[in-house]
Amino acid sequence: MTAISPPSKTDPVVIVGAGIFGLSTAIHLAQRGYTKVTVFDRQPYEKTLYSYTEGCDAASADINKIIRSAYGSQTEYQELTAEALKIWNAWHEELRLGGAAVPPGMTSDDVVWINNGNISLTDADTLPGFERDTVQGMEAAGHRGTQLINNEEDHLRLAEEKGFAEAMQPFSKKLLGVLDTTGGTAIADKACRFALHKAKSLGVQFVLDPKAGRFKSTIEDASGKVTGIRTADGKFHAAAMTIVACGGWTPTLVPDLDGLAETTAGSVVILKLPESSPLRKRFSASRFPAWTFKIRDGAEGGLYGFPADENGHLKIGYRGTKYTNPRAQADGVERSEPITRWTEGESLKKIPEQALTVIRKFLDDYLPELGAEGIDIWLTRLCWYNDSYDNHYVIDRVQGKKGLMVATAGSGHAFKYLPNIGSWVVDIMEGVGLDRPAVKAWQWREKKAGETAPNKLMEGSRSRKALGNVPLVSVDAPKERL
Ligand SMILES: Cc1cc2nc3c(=O)[nH]c(=O)nc-3n(C[C@H](O)[C@H](O)[C@H](O)COP(=O)(O)OP(=O)(O)OC[C@H]3O[C@@H](n4cnc5c(N)ncnc54)[C@H](O)[C@@H]3O)c2cc1C
Repeated sequence: MTAISPPSKTDPVVIVGAGIFGLSTAIHLAQRGYTKVTVFDRQPYEKTLYSYTEGCDAASADINKIIRSAYGSQTEYQELTAEALKIWNAWHEELRLGGAAVPPGMTSDDVVWINNGNISLTDADTLPGFERDTVQGMEAAGHRGTQLINNEEDHLRLAEEKGFAEAMQPFSKKLLGVLDTTGGTAIADKACRFALHKAKSLGVQFVLDPKAGRFKSTIEDASGKVTGIRTADGKFHAAAMTIVACGGWTPTLVPDLDGLAETTAGSVVILKLPESSPLRKRFSASRFPAWTFKIRDGAEGGLYGFPADENGHLKIGYRGTKYTNPRAQADGVERSEPITRWTEGESLKKIPEQALTVIRKFLDDYLPELGAEGIDIWLTRLCWYNDSYDNHYVIDRVQGKKGLMVATAGSGHAFKYLPNIGSWVVDIMEGVGLDRPAVKAWQWREKKAGETAPNKLMEGSRSRKALGNVPLVSVDAPKERL
């Protein structure tokens, strides 16, 4: 175990990565009085505004993400959501007040999340154990009447009273499920813009540039302590603590994560509803929830989706198979690396055929009104997660390396914690509250022999999940800008 030696409030702290982990950490460091915080990122987010269609390549750069309290028996995350929701709502208050809190290009009418609920659905006859645990866990923690089962009369009545009646059965065929009325949809790009602006207002410095912001390596002193980073422009930036928060790029930048975390791809499609289509109303967030379908059922399930956004974009994602892109690294070890349409030199504009097949079947079975109106897939995306073997985050000092931390391995569920995860990162850096269950779950760890875990990591280029072994298809609409 590396000894805890937190930096002083006036020491320089470097964060690498301006996704949600980096942004949130920057905000909370500044709010706790750290005066020399600098965030480096290779992407010019002030220009590209966290928009995927403007070339942004990060899990956090997206149109929307699910917010949920529903976490089965993992009540530590349930309570983390309750903490986050307070700040999500406070951010709305800040926006409403207008003035300096409103980021450039946004207005005080903008929202960063919508409480349209998140429904977890199955085509089975009984609720999966996870959902039953959620209902129990939420009730036990005092969040009564928030998890509504869509075949129970009193829950349907409650849904009506709370304005969630239509969200209880969002599709053309009935499915069994539980609506988490605490949750809904984060407006991902605007939330990141808000957080970036907030961090800057608190005095955090940002270097968002393909060269000056690109991390190349850490610098170590004679004792092996990390004393800062070198960026692609050749400059050295001193730091008493360096926090690497590079999402799916972290496992190749910090190979110490071997066996603990690996980057994997999810497949996403976006359908575009014309402005004149009556379906814009049908899929608006005032009627339609965020949803998951057979999300823990393996390759034939793993679907999730959202209401249409303000531009009529209807997004559906597939996570049933977690694809990898293993490439031999300088040390000879194969590690998965993100590859997307925006990857320099080798852009990939395709998604796995298997993902498309599962999505198309779902569209035919449950959303036939889209096909009936001639609405098809407009854009596809491979979106890269950083998954730990057990789906818990990794927020800790890199073992054996003083001065270096990671805040990463969002494992597909960290966006909702943009407002508050940074507070936990700072606690961990300062050595505060280390016996809390969540903090323990995020500690540096190794999969024990015989331990069952949801993710099998580092199977290499022979894996059936490796993109090189998977048929890929292109379905982007022709003549579109991308
Ligand atoms: C398809 C998809 C759907 C998801 N859905 C949900 C959801 O519904 N709800 C939810 O809560 N969570 C969801 N997640 C998870 C959530 O998006 C992630 O956990 C979170 O956004 C990860 O943030 P991050 O800061 O770790 O990484 P990222 O957002 O990927 O950011 C990493 C940053 O590091 C930068 N970087 C990389 N290399 C370098 C370098 N060498 N130098 C400088 N900067 C570098 C990148 O430019 C990038 O800005 C989803 C993830 C994906 C991929």
